Amino acid sequence: MLQSSAEFKTNATGALADVPLQNALAFARPNFSKKRQAAYDKLPEFEALREEAMAIKNHAIANLDFYLETYAAAVQKSGGHVHWCSTDEDARQAVLKICQAAGAKTVTKGKSMVTEEIGLNDFLAQNGITPVETDLGEYVLQLRHEPPSHIIGPAFHLSRAEWEKTFREQHTGLAADRVFAERRDILTEARGIMREKFLAADVGITGANFLIAETGSSVIVTNEGNGDLTQTLPRVHVVVTSIEKVVPTIEDTLSLLRVLARSATGQDMSVYTTFSTGGRRAGDPDGPEEYHVVLLDNGRSDMVGTEFQDMLRCIRCAACMNHCPVYGAVGGHAYGSTYPGPMGAVLTPMLVGVETSGNLPNASTFCGKCESVCPVKIPLPKLMRHWREREFERHLTPPAMRYGLGVWAFFAKRPALYRLASRAAAIGLGFLGRRRGFFTWLPLAEGWTVGRNFPAPEGDTFFAQYAARQREAQK
Ligand code: SF4
Repeated sequence: MLQSSAEFKTNATGALADVPLQNALAFARPNFSKKRQAAYDKLPEFEALREEAMAIKNHAIANLDFYLETYAAAVQKSGGHVHWCSTDEDARQAVLKICQAAGAKTVTKGKSMVTEEIGLNDFLAQNGITPVETDLGEYVLQLRHEPPSHIIGPAFHLSRAEWEKTFREQHTGLAADRVFAERRDILTEARGIMREKFLAADVGITGANFLIAETGSSVIVTNEGNGDLTQTLPRVHVVVTSIEKVVPTIEDTLSLLRVLARSATGQDMSVYTTFSTGGRRAGDPDGPEEYHVVLLDNGRSDMVGTEFQDMLRCIRCAACMNHCPVYGAVGGHAYGSTYPGPMGAVLTPMLVGVETSGNLPNASTFCGKCESVCPVKIPLPKLMRHWREREFERHLTPPAMRYGLGVWAFFAKRPALYRLASRAAAIGLGFLGRRRGFFTWLPLAEGWTVGRNFPAPEGDTFFAQYAARQREAQK
């Protein structure tokens, strides 16, 4: 079940005490960042590619209406259909209509965060259509009735033992002596089930990493090949995606692909990169008879021209969350949103309102690592700060924090007074905490002291020590 972003602090406390989750995070996260760093080190032009990727996306977003219309015309020319959807409800209804027209009973699905965003699985099931996730991680989560905790490694919070337990509970007829010693054993088990589903499906639904305006193609990258089977075997292929995925040309797409996999998993390229343009043509040996693109806005066009426009550059590589100390401590479910981590902290308030998701832009240390690894250079800390400003303007910030910020602003505007007050506070707290060396409670700092002790200041303030060093250096 999806936790609520309004309960982020409670969720985070639970996540910190969740030993299996902490073990999974400790195991998986460093791998992502090490592999990304190795890929970065191997490619001297990585920084230049980031600049290029940023420029491509900026250009596409600045001309979004033009490229979307060009894309839609190209899809129609290749025999496909584009369904424009302003809201998540529009998108759900569009998919349902296509499935009903196809007489679909079973639908296979490749990994798609947009279908998570619109809650497609539950909606299809409520309407008598069985959705089957075919990405391995998504599949086990579907069996467990859990949402993804990561945008590219949806089940990375689960240990191998938890996978095995889920299969034993959910796969009827599984022999008790069946061994799951290796990852390969899990794959073999899932593959056996999945083959039947692929062949039974009437409709295949995928997402899209990119939409190419000049050709009307959708592009997906996977490491399992499930996306290819999902879109090739059923009679109908539906791409469910969002408007900011459009880029002008194939060349642009190739440039973006060069930074996508390296930033995501450290691979030069994902194992499968598949371009789809329309349905099956005369003489094609296989492929779907119908090709549909359900194109979702859901608040994205409202970001154009605002201080949040940069967020539309996101290519969903997950590097920001793989390097975020907050995500690394609590995992993805604690965010209570489809999109976790720094990118989710910026995007979610846009999709569901800052009134209910205001905790997320505050769930950041502002260390800046997310921005430094983002392949399209999204200034994530700055955008989170903008959300904090909006919260403050709308009086959503708790009164104690507003009061505290007011007091701080008073002193910050008067540097001499600020130095004097901080020095007095440091000396005073240092004196009061001299015996134990820490405080277990401080007024206005309960958010800190509820989980850990607050160290008593030792010596003088930073300003005073820095000034003393400068004087020393000048002697
Ligand atoms: S914000 Fe940047 S780093 Fe994060 S998922 Fe998007 S492209 Fe990747």
